[in-house]
Amino acid sequence: SKEVGRNSFQLFKPSMNARSLERFAMMSRFQYALENDEFELYFQPKQCLRSKAIKGVEALLRWQDPALGIISPAQFIPLAEELGLIVKLDLWVLNNAGMQLALWQQQGITAGRLAINISACHLSQGSLSSSVEKMLQRYNLSGNCLEIELTESSFISSFSQAKRELWQLKKMGVQIALDDFGTGYSALSYLTKLPIDTLKIDASFIAKVPDEYGNSEIVAAIVAMANSLNLKVIAEGVEKLAQYSYLLELGCDVIQGYYYCRPLTQRQWLEFYQLQNQP
Ligand code: C2E
Ligand code: CA
Ligand code: CA
Ligand code: CA
Repeated sequence: SKEVGRNSFQLFKPSMNARSLERFAMMSRFQYALENDEFELYFQPKQCLRSKAIKGVEALLRWQDPALGIISPAQFIPLAEELGLIVKLDLWVLNNAGMQLALWQQQGITAGRLAINISACHLSQGSLSSSVEKMLQRYNLSGNCLEIELTESSFISSFSQAKRELWQLKKMGVQIALDDFGTGYSALSYLTKLPIDTLKIDASFIAKVPDEYGNSEIVAAIVAMANSLNLKVIAEGVEKLAQYSYLLELGCDVIQGYYYCRPLTQRQWLEFYQLQNQP
């Protein structure tokens, strides 16, 4: 809880085990890291299945700690939540995404929208849309270049607040994707009650396609549902040709995963983009 997070320094005891010591070390480093720009965005392109072209890029956060090495967001996002620093971290991502977008526009890079991940708890704070608006103004950008990936848990704590925020974003031209689709609370009514543009089928379903019975059918059903609701659909975690072929056959719009491209540093991403766009 936040309470524990705030008092974590007082919780230090010599009796702590190795795991909580490691956690403690990470917590105390985290705040410092946020002030000192130890974070970096990696970029993973998405591919349009029909045209084979790049269809947007997702920004994925990395923490490079001088002592601890590269730390995965799966580890530090929960930590940031516990420390009450998640909104601050999201704002760092938002601002850096804006900086990147402005830079890419200067360089003539047109690779579709840049998608950023926003933590579930952020939406209920009611400040996301105004932060996005300020960022767009700061970098002189249109909302049309931005996409926000949210999980279903974003809507749980305050549905009406979330709805207001999403409509604000929508008005600016920002698109909304539902991340990890199929793993959450699966209240399908969200799909018609909220301005959602895209479903991202969770990687756990894709991992078992096409072999494991039942999974291919679930994926097929999600794609069909998305198509009939006029939502775009992305499959994430596509690693193998068999998965790619199956998704192509289903009429899935876009894929993302190691099969197409791994998350890349900013420099690697520019190289990838240039290779794809060679005359
Ligand atoms: P996610 O949004 O579902 O992102 C997909 C994750 O799968 C990424 O892990 C990505 O590197 C990984 N991935 C991509 N393609 C493949 C593949 O073909 N196979 C496999 N096995 N994995 C693949 P990553 O970068 O470690 O991020 C983990 C999670 O952390 C993300 O899941 C997202 O929920 C969160 N996260 C990442 N960046 C941010 C951020 O800037 N802000 C917030 N709030 N959360 C973030
Ligand atoms: Ca995501
Ligand atoms: Ca996901
Ligand atoms: Ca995920």
